Amino acid sequence: MNRSQAEVEKLIIVGSGPAGLTAAIYAARGNLNPLVIAGREAGGQLTLTTDVDDFPGFEEGIQGPELMAKMRKQAERFNTRFINEDVVSVDLKAKPFVIQSESRRLTADSLIIATGASAMWLGLDSEQRLRGKGVSACAVCDGFFFKGKVVAVVGGGDTAMREANYLAKLCQKVIIIHRRDVLRAQPVLAELVKTKPNVEFVWNTEVVEVLGQEKVTGVKLKNTQTGQISELPIDGLFVAIGHKPNTDFLKEQLELNEKGYVVVEGETRTKIPGVFIAGDLADYRYRQAVTAAGAGCKAAFDIEEYLEAMKLPTEGNGG
Ligand code: NAP
Repeated sequence: MNRSQAEVEKLIIVGSGPAGLTAAIYAARGNLNPLVIAGREAGGQLTLTTDVDDFPGFEEGIQGPELMAKMRKQAERFNTRFINEDVVSVDLKAKPFVIQSESRRLTADSLIIATGASAMWLGLDSEQRLRGKGVSACAVCDGFFFKGKVVAVVGGGDTAMREANYLAKLCQKVIIIHRRDVLRAQPVLAELVKTKPNVEFVWNTEVVEVLGQEKVTGVKLKNTQTGQISELPIDGLFVAIGHKPNTDFLKEQLELNEKGYVVVEGETRTKIPGVFIAGDLADYRYRQAVTAAGAGCKAAFDIEEYLEAMKLPTEGNGG
């Protein structure tokens, strides 16, 4: 492509959670003039949470959406530009890279992809129909609505234990439904939950249907060993079966592992020079706002080094 014909961005950052926004703050301060394609649901998973008590610097805690708004304002202070659209596709084989958002075709010399991850669902029609009506994937966001009620948590991993632990403080009873009879969760988290008097386990069991018309009234269960079907009355269902990285648009473009996470070399690099990764789309293990922010910072440093090595100017939009 003729660089004079199209405006080639120096750096495009895809995603506006803690990873993308931290990358933007560092890159903007480093004079890389970043453009952030923020997504329609800008701000990422933290916009779905309430109290964030573990992000350093906020001794009294902070609300997730407020933290993200602050990060965005900070990035804007250094003149980061934003487009609130989703990316539909990318062509990373082209040079400059091509990024197609919902309404625009953009090109860039370098990219930081920070699209994060989203909660996984069981895949039941009834589950989707009752989302927001008693079905949730975020205890911290929605637990308050179930104060004094009976809820179930599906899953046997760390997320399920964390969700159950949180809900046990609010709800009359929390029933953990797990498809096996052994938890995947770390023992320390499993013990924390097992010692709660108002937490019960239902083992070797899958949810096959969520019951209720206007709101959740129960779940239909299937024993994975005997096939026996039963019903359990509950007021709310929290699905905590893991997260899925938001990498569908990268499938033909970058190396992904069997779970869809981007395979990175070192900290942030991909096999394609100039394409860097930050945050949950490559992080199966930590998935914390602060680790994502750290990854965003590293990606911005790596981009700066890359662009310097390419001897591309670090001012203005184009080359
Ligand atoms: P995970 O470790 O993959 O566990 C998912 C759980 O959901 C498993 O018990 C799995 O059952 C179950 N499951 C998956 N698909 C299911 C389905 N379709 N129907 C019913 N059950 C299903 O995911 P995670 O708990 O979200 O944790 C992900 C990573 O984040 C882990 O590395 C974890 O350590 C980390 N994490 C850490 C903390 C912390 O506080 N340190 C908190 C949250 C997450 P099986 O066991 O049978 O596969």
